[in-house]
Order: sequence, then C-alpha cells, then structure tokens
Amino acid sequence: MAEPLLALSGLGKHFGGVQAVKDLSFSMGSGEIVGLIGPNGSGKSTSVNLISGTLPPSNGDIRFAGTSVSRLTVSERVPLGLARTFQTTSVFPEFSVREQVLTACHVRYRSSASGSVFRLASARREEHAQHAKVEEILAFVGLAAVAGEAASAISSAQQRLLMIATALATEPRLLLLDEPAAGMVAKERKDLAALIQRIRGRGTAVLVIEHHMGLIMEVCSRIVVLNFGQKIAEGTPADIQRNPVVIDAYLGGAH
Ligand code: ADP
Ligand code: MG
Repeated sequence: MAEPLLALSGLGKHFGGVQAVKDLSFSMGSGEIVGLIGPNGSGKSTSVNLISGTLPPSNGDIRFAGTSVSRLTVSERVPLGLARTFQTTSVFPEFSVREQVLTACHVRYRSSASGSVFRLASARREEHAQHAKVEEILAFVGLAAVAGEAASAISSAQQRLLMIATALATEPRLLLLDEPAAGMVAKERKDLAALIQRIRGRGTAVLVIEHHMGLIMEVCSRIVVLNFGQKIAEGTPADIQRNPVVIDAYLGGAH
C-alpha cells in the first residue's frame, strides 16, 4: 500500500508544564481535505506549527511524502511541498499584493546569479514564467482586481486570500490553513469553501482548522477532533456531528 502523504505518530508538544499536544496520530492522503477541530486551546494551532516546522516536537514523528520531516526547519519543509497560512494575517504591508506572491515563487525557481549571457537569458525567461504564475494564482484566488494594491490596503478577508495565494506560490502538496475564515462574512466563507475545493482540484491536499462548522462540514471528507491536546474522535462529518464525546467536549468546554 502506498504511504499516506502526511502521517503523524505519537506527536507531542509541551510548553513547560502545559501539554499542548499529546500522543497525536493521524494520517491523510493526497487529494484529501481534512478538518482539524476542537475547542479553544485544544492544540490545533500547535499541531499546525509542528507539521509546518514552526515549532520542534517534544515527542513523536511526522512523515511527509515518504520521509521524516520532524527535524527539518520550515524552509527545508516548504520545498518538499508543505505550506501554511497563519491564524493571524501576516502580510508585508509595503508590498503590493502581486509582489507579496512573487516573493514566495522563489522557493521553487532559483536562478544562479553568476553572469554568463546564457544564464541571464534563462533567468529572464524564468522571471517571465514566475510573473505569469503569480497572475494565474491571483486570478485563481480572486485577487486579480487588487493585484497592484498595497497588501495593507486590501480588506482583511482579502488578506486571508493573499496568505493562501502566497502559500500556493510554493506549489504545495499539502496546504495547512489555520482559521482561514476568521473575520469573514457568510458570503466570503461560502467563496472560501469553494476555493478550498478548487485547491484540492489542482492536486493539493488541505488540512483546515476552522470553528465555523458549516464550512468544515461542507468541505471536509474527514475530521479529526482535539480536546486538551488529544485526539478524541476521527471520522466523516456525519459521524462527528452525532458523536457524543465530541458534543460533550464542545458543550462542556469554555464555549
Ligand atoms: P488552539 O489553536 O486549539 O486554540 P493552541 O495550539 O494555540 O490551541 O494552544 C494549545 C495550548 O498550548 C494552550 O493551552 C496554549 O495556551 C498553549 N500554548 C500554545 N502556544 C504556546 C506557546 N508558544 N507557549 C506556551 N504555551 C503555548
Ligand atoms: Mg489556534
């Protein structure tokens, strides 16, 4: 049997005395959209930080595309096809929308700077290809109309799409989305759900953290539920919705 795209086994992270993630195991295949849900403080963002490499794990292993990535840095994981967005929007305020996405393309295309005429010609061709790719991605996420605007001048929903566009520019095999719908109104969430499905359509698996259950139930084929850092359930949206342990975790928690 083929190895899954992502496999977490016994993953753990503690911050001093706080066990943020404990003995977490699950896997996902390429072409899947998986939801990661749970009450506030249940370890969702920490899990994404461990998978993306923003934080080193305290225990366990993360395998991605056939190799262990647990000890790799973020910048070593991105070229393997791992990209993420953050729970809080992070954009370069002075960059235009187009420039911000362009910066991320360099992960994939790297011209040697040394000076032969032939190298310069190929570098120019590459630059051309990168610009075309940026325009394609901006159109794909629905930001073509604001491509020339400063990243700080667009709406917060558009900044969330910009984070997704920037991640897509690295050509990920797995995209990790940490609360991509935060601050979005219903219509924007609906468009986001369609976008997530189109991202899967281009061959990128998606792991999405979200507390808007409507969005999660609509786009995910499988859902993993965390509570106090541990997996308490895993299954289809229908399974999860009627799972008494899950209902308890939400009703009994801080919500
Ligand atoms: P979620 O995203 O599910 O709301 P988090 O993963 O952000 O939860 O947090 C899980 C737990 O770990 C919380 O108790 C949080 O306070 C703690 N935590 C998260 N990040 C850190 C950190 N950098 N330092 C200390 N504690 C942290
Ligand atoms: Mg979080």
